[in-house]
Amino acid sequence: MTTLTHLECTRCARRFEAGQVWNLCECGGPLAARYDLERARQSWSRDWVNNGPSNIWRYAPVLPVSKPAAMISLGEGMTPLLRTPRLGERLGASDLWVKDDGVNPTGSFKARGLACAVAMALELGIRKLAIPSAGNAASALAAYAAAAGIEAHIFMPRDVPQSNFSECMAFGARVTLVDGLIGDCARMVAQGAEKEGWFDVSTLKEPYRIEGKKTMGYELAEQFRWALPGAILYPTGGGVGLIGMWKAFAELEALGWVVGKRPKMIAVQMEGCQPVVRAFEQGRSQCEFWRDAWTVASGLRVPQPLGDVLILDAIRASGGTAIAVSDQEALDAGLELAALEGVFAAPEGAACVAALPKLIARGALDAAERIVIYNTGAGLKYLEAWSTRFPRQASGDQDKLGGLITPR
Ligand SMILES: *Cc1c(COP(=O)(O)O)cnc(C)c1O
Ligand SMILES: [Zn+2]
Repeated sequence: MTTLTHLECTRCARRFEAGQVWNLCECGGPLAARYDLERARQSWSRDWVNNGPSNIWRYAPVLPVSKPAAMISLGEGMTPLLRTPRLGERLGASDLWVKDDGVNPTGSFKARGLACAVAMALELGIRKLAIPSAGNAASALAAYAAAAGIEAHIFMPRDVPQSNFSECMAFGARVTLVDGLIGDCARMVAQGAEKEGWFDVSTLKEPYRIEGKKTMGYELAEQFRWALPGAILYPTGGGVGLIGMWKAFAELEALGWVVGKRPKMIAVQMEGCQPVVRAFEQGRSQCEFWRDAWTVASGLRVPQPLGDVLILDAIRASGGTAIAVSDQEALDAGLELAALEGVFAAPEGAACVAALPKLIARGALDAAERIVIYNTGAGLKYLEAWSTRFPRQASGDQDKLGGLITPR
């Protein structure tokens, strides 16, 4: 079913055979999966997609896995694309939508990428996977490894949300809590990969997670009946979702399934860790290491994304921009989204809500264009962060809990 032909280095264009185990190119560049899209165009159609399974494998011809038996699924993808008129009215955007990836297995869009990476590992006969993670990728790997019956070795900062730690333990993964950031975790995984023979599924060091994540782009197109929105606000950490969607749009054009202008890709980061925003504003093609990174949006605590060149390219080529908001602004905006639309978002998704009125004020977005806020995770995974807003009162004070949101 797959039309995968080979992999290609995104820096030096070197070619790598399909059906083998690869990490980065020797030049340090991430590898991209390439497909015979002409063949896909002739043998596949939008009607077929319509009748496909309700998970990422509905796009199997443009995913790398070839054996149906390896296509494991926990029901990831085909998440709701919601029209949010009350929030739109509040923020001054008349055609506003929220894509809610918080309803994925393990509560984040990371399920898409890891479903694909673990399926590929299964197909290639890899038995031991290892990952450095700021939290949600660890939960997703642990779940899919359990579903596939393979080992997961997880390294995450000691201060990850409790939900992520509990999930990993529940799924039976081998978990190491690290006194450091994701970069320190990555070094430990690299050492273990050499010594213990683990396969390193770090973002972009492993070429197939991005393939799973690109289904976000396919899904947006499909759910809008094969038309693309004017702009997508995406909470950018490693930036793989953004790069993945951009790749999806290029493939959709090659398939002849969408035409016209691509969406403006807008990277939203947090004030406490904004290497992409800084590089974008300074006109540079690469990010500098962001010191002392901290934010409640743990998925965005990536001080130096490996795919920086690709992220910045996509933002610029799309006519998009990059913007940072504070933790407080993100949490406030998240409560507005929840109270107005019934979507309890992760702080990462909430950050995009906070960014929207600023972008309109700057003229980066037009109030009437179709705008999608990509919510990457579930609010429920961040109970520590939300509990700062909702400290529980001693009994007898319950009646004071109403009306916590003050109107603007
Ligand atoms: C990992 C993560 C992100 C950042 O994802 P990238 O595509 O790597 O930028 C955003 N939000 C949540 C909830 C995450 O878990
Ligand atoms: Zn290369």
